[in-house]
Parts: sequence; structure tokens; C-alpha cells
Amino acid sequence: MRRQRGNGEGSLLTEAFNRMDAWGEARERGKPKVFRAEHRTLKKKGMEKMEVLYSSTRDGREKITASQAILKGLSEDGGLFVPDHIPALSCTMRELADKSYQETAYEVMKLFLTDFTEEELKTCIARAYDSKFDTEVIAPLVEAEGAYYLELFHGATIAFKDMALSILPHLMIASAKKNHVENEIVILTATSGDTGKAALAGFADVAGTKIIVFYPKNGVSPIQEKQMVTQKGDNTFVVGIHGNFDDAQTGVKMLFNDKELAEEMAGHGLQFSSANSINIGRLVPQVVYYVYAYAQLLKEEKIQDGEQINVVVPTGNFGNILAAFYAKHMGVPIHKLICASNENKVLYDFFQTGDYDRNREFKLTSSPSMDILISSNLERLIYRIAGGDPEKNARLMKSLSEQGSYQITAEMREQLADFYGNFADEAETAGRIRAMYENTGYVLDTHTAVASAVYKKYASDTQDGTKTVIASTASPFKFTRSVMNAIDPKYDAMGDFDLVDELSKIGNVAVPKAIDEIRTAPVLHDHVCDKTEMKAVVKQFLGIE
Ligand SMILES: *Cc1c(COP(=O)(O)O)cnc(C)c1O
Repeated sequence: MRRQRGNGEGSLLTEAFNRMDAWGEARERGKPKVFRAEHRTLKKKGMEKMEVLYSSTRDGREKITASQAILKGLSEDGGLFVPDHIPALSCTMRELADKSYQETAYEVMKLFLTDFTEEELKTCIARAYDSKFDTEVIAPLVEAEGAYYLELFHGATIAFKDMALSILPHLMIASAKKNHVENEIVILTATSGDTGKAALAGFADVAGTKIIVFYPKNGVSPIQEKQMVTQKGDNTFVVGIHGNFDDAQTGVKMLFNDKELAEEMAGHGLQFSSANSINIGRLVPQVVYYVYAYAQLLKEEKIQDGEQINVVVPTGNFGNILAAFYAKHMGVPIHKLICASNENKVLYDFFQTGDYDRNREFKLTSSPSMDILISSNLERLIYRIAGGDPEKNARLMKSLSEQGSYQITAEMREQLADFYGNFADEAETAGRIRAMYENTGYVLDTHTAVASAVYKKYASDTQDGTKTVIASTASPFKFTRSVMNAIDPKYDAMGDFDLVDELSKIGNVAVPKAIDEIRTAPVLHDHVCDKTEMKAVVKQFLGIE
């Protein structure tokens, strides 16, 4: 059985940054100038804006800039970087209603990433949200059964990870430049399927970066494997390993911790970094689409200015829903944040009881990107409801790593009133896909179906008729077999690409480019190695003898 990923990602980087000290050199060289930013007000074109600085959720002493937080990913103490305040939107919703996705992205991101210049940010945004997306609006809203599905899957790998991973490489390169990091950045990732491909697509051919992805040779779906091994780009490297996801992850963790390797790499002008989902450079771009969704609803006259909406998010690592929470605190009129889980319902139980307890059976479901027992990004919320007290948060996180659980106080629980948690089991998820298809012809992916099912429960539990946006996190084409089997079990007899064509036919949607391409795309990566050979493979790829 595969172990959950959230935990692995967190502990991996904690240890990596604790021991490897990848940024040691940069820190020594640049400390006074670079790593000790003071809280100050930036004056620009006569406009005053508050600089946002970032500190760890586990130790508030060191404050760093956004670009430094993006480069580091995770704090050395194992904490996540959080902004010292959530900035308020500086445009009205009416003004935002007339802006494109890219313009909205700039309006939101400039408020968080205050040490980036206008030109830097606009360049990053232009490079990220371009024709890689199959629709000009980038994140369209689709109305079905009275709710608004915010489709976040129109990017290169047809899952919502593209929303952030298409811009993170550019933010990272700009951050490296700003901080005088001259090394080439080597992104190292172990994947069980989705993150690896989205990171590959994001970093492919980005100057100043290389990306190495290890995946379990027999542990990903045929479509996922095909997506990865056909990846173009001179700086990409994909390797299957004989072993499972845990082996890939453990191997990557050892490479991050390998001091000798770090030194050798530094000698060749290289350093590791991570595209992990706890990077603030992934969180901030996700705030954008909630702002955009609200503004679009206003533009389409679906809501009145100032009218509240609910947001439903199918949740795994808690990144996407945390972005919605940030959007609310920037001023988007959001009523409830509805957190949808699959059978790994640790978050539902947490919202019910105030106890976070990962000591339970890990379940494999048809929504694998939500098969997580430790939601890493929840730590940012815990820190906040602990009154921004890093010691208090650190104690809870220690309990989580030692006992696998922690309990929050009644006072902290009171601050979770904006959240509603529920879950959908496998039968409910499949039933929702079928019912939506039969009622409207719209085909949901399995993750989105979890959210849709939870929304139904919320609506009947509360009778709340507030207009609602549901984050639609993957194209049904990415999980074709589960989706088609939910609609009719007869489809199970069909082959993978036949199912794709059938889905296109019954759903009346064109096959996404991402899927069409891999049908005939040549395999460019056929490396397979033993888990003990990972270091040698990395050195070979990097040209280190
Ligand atoms: C990653 C992912 C999720 C979960 O998002 P989090 O930010 O980890 O909560 C949901 N759906 C899909 C399709 C995903 O790829």
C-alpha cells in the first residue's frame, strides 16, 4: 500500500534543508543584505505599498522576502513560510471584472510578492498563462445544476496543479536573479503521477533550471506514464525506478540529504530546489483564480456586487482551499469554505472534533490526488488560529510527527467557523458523476465529483442557498477509466485510448491536446534504474563525474 504523500513531502524537505544546507553558501555571502529584510514601506511611483515579509510557522524570528521564501521552499526549522499579513485587494471587484486572467494575476500577486518589480511579475505571468492553456480565459466557469464549476484544468497537464506550476519556474528564476544565486537550479521530484508531469511541463526549457523526476515504474497509470516519458525539453529527465512510490521518495530524500553531492553540485554551479506544494510560490498563484471567479460572476451578472458566495474545494494537501481562505481575507466576499474529502477523511474529522489524527488506515480511492493523511498546508491555518504564535504551532506539529495527532483548543476551533467539512465515499463519488452526466451531460472528474457530492450534503444539511463556486481540479480525461465506469460499468472492457474517444463522444468535448499528443508522441525517456542507482543516475544527468 502506498503511503500518503503529504507527510513524505514535508518531512523530506525538513530533513533536506536541516542537513544539507543547500543555501548555506548564499546565506553566508548575502546574509546582511539578502536574508535580513526589515519591515518597510516601499515607495513606488508615488504609491505607497506595504511590503509583505515571510516567516516560518515554527519560528517567527527570521523575516525574509517573498523571493527568498520561494527559493527556500521550506524553512530550515521544518515550518512553512507565511506572510506577515494578508494584503487587501487594491482594486474594486467592479474594476477586476473588466480584467483578463493575466491582469487579475498581476493585481493579486503584486500584493503578496512585494519584492518583485512590475516588469518581473508581468513577465512571469505572461510566460505562464499563454497558449499552453487551451482557453483564453484560462479558468472558465461552467454552470451546472445551479452551481458554478471553476475549471482549473485547461493547462498543459489538464489538472489544477498547472495553475501554479506553470508560473513557479519563472518566479524561481526571477527569485534566483534577485538574490544573486548564480547556480543553476535543479528541481528533484518523486511522483506518483500528477505532480511530476505538471512540474516537468512547467520547468521544461526554462533557462537556468533542470528537472529530474523519479516515478515508480509499475506504480503509475498508463496515461500518467505516457505523459511523463514523452516530455520534451533539453533540461528534463524522467526515470522509472524498480520499486514503489515510497522507494522513489526515499531515494529523493537521500539525495536532498547528501552533503557530498551538494558540494559536488555547488562545484559545478548547481543546487537542488523543490517544486513542492508547500512553496509559497505555488500558493499565491492559486489565490488568483478565486478573485477572478468572483469578478467573472459579477461581470456576467450572476451575482450582485458584494454578494457572498460559497467555495467548495476537493482537498488533499489543503493548498487549494487555503488559497480560497487567503482570497476571502483579501476581501473577496466568501461565506463558507467547504472542504471536501474522499474516504481519507482526516480533515472532515478535524473540522468535526478539533482532533487531527492521521493514525488510521490509508485508503486508495478513485481520486488519488486527495489520498493524503497529512495535509501539509493545514499548518498555515493552524498557525493563524493559534494567533500567529509559532511556539504553539510548533508544539502541535511536533505532536503530529511524534504521535500522529494533535488537538486544538476550543478557542482555536471557534476561528474555524468559516469552514465546513464533509466527505464522499467511493459509491457517492461515482453516483455523482453518473447523476451529473444524466441530468446535464456535463462530465465531472473523480476529484471534482467528491466536491460536488459534498456540496449536495452541505446544501441539504444547512439549506444555505448562497451561490456557490466548486473548484474543478482535473479534466475527466485524466481519470477516464474511473469516470467512464461511473457512468456505465460496461466501459471497463475498453482500452485506455478507446475510452478517451468514447468520453469525447458522450461528453461532447474535444479530446484535450495533452491527451491527443501522447497517443503518438515518441518516448523520449526510457531510463529505468534500481532504487540504489538513483544517485549515479542524477550525477550522470548533471554531468558530474
Ligand atoms: C492536487 C490535487 C487536489 C488536491 O489539492 P490540494 O491543494 O492538495 O488540497 C485535488 N484534485 C486534483 C486533481 C489534484 O491534482
